[in-house]
Amino acid sequence: MTYPVLSLKHLKSDDNQRCSGCGAEFVPSEDSGSRQLGLRGGDVSFGALLCGGCHSKWSHGTPLTLKGPLSA
Ligand SMILES: [Zn+2]
Repeated sequence: MTYPVLSLKHLKSDDNQRCSGCGAEFVPSEDSGSRQLGLRGGDVSFGALLCGGCHSKWSHGTPLTLKGPLSA
């Protein structure tokens, strides 16, 4: 079987991007708390970009609904 892999890293992008959680536009390189979440393998694969606020809330235990753009 293929084991799923979770990744969470800071995206060094100077382009305006939209948070997958709240939909806010932000520049990842200027938001040190923002993270690019990835889940690869298994039955589901997707990537989501979280702004600093959404990542902070989620990492402290608040469930986060992903409403914004997801990458495959
Ligand atoms: Zn957000």
